[in-house]
Amino acid sequence: MKQQELMTMMVIVSLGVLLNACAPGEITTMGDLGELYNTHGQKADALFDANGYAAPVFAQSPFVRVGLMWDAQEDTLLEGRFADEAGNWTRWQSIDANWQEDLAHNAHLDVEGMNKLGFQLRLVAGPPPSRLWTEGIDELGEAIVDGYDDDMRSSSAALVAYAAPSDLVNSRSVWGARSPACSSSAHTPSMVTVHHSATPLPDSISPAARVRQIQSYHIDSRGWCDIGYHFMVDWNGDIWQGRAETVTAAHVAYHNTNNIGVSFLGTYTNTAATATQLDKAGALLAWLADVYMIPVDRDHLLGHRDWVANECPGEQLYHQLDDILARASGGGAGPEPAGFLKGVVFVDRGLGTADMSERVGGAVISLSTGASTQAASTDAYWSIELPAGTYTVTASADGFLNGVKTCTVTAGQDSWCSIGIEPFLDPCQGETYVGRCDGNTVVWCESDRIYYWNCSDAGRVCAYDPYWQYYSCRR
Ligand SMILES: [Zn+2]
Repeated sequence: MKQQELMTMMVIVSLGVLLNACAPGEITTMGDLGELYNTHGQKADALFDANGYAAPVFAQSPFVRVGLMWDAQEDTLLEGRFADEAGNWTRWQSIDANWQEDLAHNAHLDVEGMNKLGFQLRLVAGPPPSRLWTEGIDELGEAIVDGYDDDMRSSSAALVAYAAPSDLVNSRSVWGARSPACSSSAHTPSMVTVHHSATPLPDSISPAARVRQIQSYHIDSRGWCDIGYHFMVDWNGDIWQGRAETVTAAHVAYHNTNNIGVSFLGTYTNTAATATQLDKAGALLAWLADVYMIPVDRDHLLGHRDWVANECPGEQLYHQLDDILARASGGGAGPEPAGFLKGVVFVDRGLGTADMSERVGGAVISLSTGASTQAASTDAYWSIELPAGTYTVTASADGFLNGVKTCTVTAGQDSWCSIGIEPFLDPCQGETYVGRCDGNTVVWCESDRIYYWNCSDAGRVCAYDPYWQYYSCRR
């Protein structure tokens, strides 16, 4: 919900300004410009106090309309009111949905008379919404910006010129899109910006219904020509066409020309996108890159927060942009597995692989790439499919020092990579994390090796750091 396109006056909202002594005060967020209440896709219980009042919120610049999107049962009734600079409140007005499907509702309340700065919600009847999001809107409609004029308005031909393949993207007719309310400027895609929709995750309504809700809100409450995004990736990884990518949309204020908006449906602050979602987003990026010659790199795949300080596209998803790039480079499904690396984990008796007779079942095999697997419990056999290349492989198990080996995978072949690991014998004689010089020997551990030093200085204490598996001794 971060589509504050074309604001001639930025709405800066000071969130969490609590004037109501009963305010629950749970809504703390670094919101987007204009955002008033945001439950981040979660239940709105904490928004309302025992009497049903939400804490009032104030903007630093006036707005002419408050837009709301919420999920609630039929009997949930909300009211809102506005405040001016002096803190004079209007009467309460009922908030009637102008769009509704299943639990999802959209509405807006217009300021009457002078612009207002403050807004407050109250719950009049029914349970709190299961999700609520509101914003102050300072100007309605979608201006033509970035130097484009009417001569460059799109034609219907431009809308279909580079239609995405139907096995990759669900067309507008699949989700029952409304026709655009006005035409948008033509542009040539040269970069992609990722968003999230701040809707629930997991969601209880269908992806198509969620997309219809967003389109209705953008047209009816924001006054935009059409849905603000070019593409949406739902929680199953299915992709939905918003605006044609050949016209400007409304998803990054002042930076919509040549900029493709891809929004992941859901809230990705604490939840990461799935591998399937990343695969499909990578395939979409690969297609866009191919058709419009967009470089597949981080300079051309941005998060909304790269443009302006806000939460979008969520902390988790933001850190997955590199994963999307990697998939786009690999044709959308990641690098093709090319061969198997396999072996056993055995007790190292100092003879290398000449004596692998004692196995360490259940040992964990981890690769520098982040991939991992577990050795079988009986014979400690393991196998992992990997692209051709050279890998640093680490075997670990309780009671053993880590064993590290460099192994190479050859395309189309099985490559062996058995690893011996040494038992970790506590040189401190069972005294927790402390070894003592016994008059002849002191133990010193460096990295994963144990050294025994002669020691005539009885009484030195050796401390063990379990994280680094490291001993240090001092008097
Ligand atoms: Zn955004």
